[in-house]
Amino acid sequence: MELAKYAFFWGCQIPARLPFMEKSTRLALDRLAVGYTDLAGFTCCPEKSLVKNFNKEQWLLTAARNLSLAERAGLDLITACNGCYSTLKSAHMQLRTDHELKKRVNYFLQQVGLAYQGALKVKHLVELLHDEVGPGKIRSYVRKPFSGMRIASHPGCHMLRPSSVIRFDDPLKPAKLDALVEALGAHSVDYQLKMTCCGGALSHAGEEEDSLALTRKKLLELQKMRVDAMVLLCPACFIQYDQKQYLAQRRGERLNIPVFTYPELLGLALGLKREELGLESHRVATGDFLARWEQNLDRFGEVKQYLDLPAVRRCFECGACVADCPVAETTDSFKPRELIGRLLEGKIEELLQSKEPWYCVECHTCYELCPQKFGMEKVFGVLKRLAWERGLVPASIKGGIGTFLKTGRLGEPDEKNRKKLGLEPLPSGGAEDWQKLLEICHKQE
Ligand code: SF4
Ligand code: SF4
Ligand code: SF4
Repeated sequence: MELAKYAFFWGCQIPARLPFMEKSTRLALDRLAVGYTDLAGFTCCPEKSLVKNFNKEQWLLTAARNLSLAERAGLDLITACNGCYSTLKSAHMQLRTDHELKKRVNYFLQQVGLAYQGALKVKHLVELLHDEVGPGKIRSYVRKPFSGMRIASHPGCHMLRPSSVIRFDDPLKPAKLDALVEALGAHSVDYQLKMTCCGGALSHAGEEEDSLALTRKKLLELQKMRVDAMVLLCPACFIQYDQKQYLAQRRGERLNIPVFTYPELLGLALGLKREELGLESHRVATGDFLARWEQNLDRFGEVKQYLDLPAVRRCFECGACVADCPVAETTDSFKPRELIGRLLEGKIEELLQSKEPWYCVECHTCYELCPQKFGMEKVFGVLKRLAWERGLVPASIKGGIGTFLKTGRLGEPDEKNRKKLGLEPLPSGGAEDWQKLLEICHKQE
């Protein structure tokens, strides 16, 4: 475990309403050996839309007090809550750039034995995981990847905006949370409503129906796109998408998108058990998602021995050479890209049962044209190999392989016709020696 560089600022909502998010964050950070500590004395960040609008000075002074506690301990500050991040970072930036304001705030802080210098860093958990730990290191720690799972990220407004003070990721087209999702082996699905608000703040304003309308809109888009789950960090967003969705389900609405916080998915991928993470506290059922994931783990486990799945995903997204495949050009029965897509969805057994992978004639055109030197043929080669291991091979190929294994050849010389053409008999083949060689090899496997 690294020495603590961070004071973890949990805020009010996580320990009060989502203690399972706190638990998964703590367990995941421990597994990644990220050092952090809990500091005594923190209050609410305070919440921006309520406290700031009601009393700006109290908002700033409270935020500055929290920041100064971390500074006094010589630590940077980290938070997993979008609201806390937005408040603390905005206050920090404001105080760093307005000297008069900083002087006034320090005048009050000094009277309780504190001082705000402005030297600390304020980071969101996503910022820490992406910019410091890094997707590469996370990938290397993953034990149970989410291969084949389609996950939609909801960064939430206050993780990224206002960009003038947050400066962490693109406020309209963010990518860092998606990179972290992909580091867990899942496919982070891009979607139109990604950056729309969850609607939680409308609920504070007493507009429950309008608030739910925003929530519903996004959930319906994800359902239409056959997304497996939504991932987010903001506790307010979680309450909106999980608890409000559940209430809508109970009213008979056909919404069904399981919602996870990123530390929960990270914890699962790192090998933590669902019970340790407290997933039973979710309101929207997560069981089907987790069962599909377990199934995929079994299926992909075998495929992953032979294929680099992120490279297969890149190939699927590229598709540049598909139009040059001579077989795909000639027959509608072979759709290489669609087959690769089905593999990425985990439909491996279905592919092994079908004749489609055998349409690839291994002409190497895709390999030669591929700028990555990947080649779609690699995928079909692996599918053929697995199909062979299960005895799921088209009869014509099975016959050929049977002859080879028996004689070491794909056909015996036709001596009768060869003789008619005046050809001398060929020397005998080495079938017996060759079979001995195979036996030795087989015994040593
Ligand atoms: S999406 Fe809603 S709850 Fe989440 S950060 Fe934005 S306003 Fe807050
Ligand atoms: S190797 Fe297979 S997939 Fe690639 S171009 Fe040839 S037939 Fe198509
Ligand atoms: S084989 Fe190469 S060029 Fe063809 S789709 Fe895949 S990555 Fe793109």
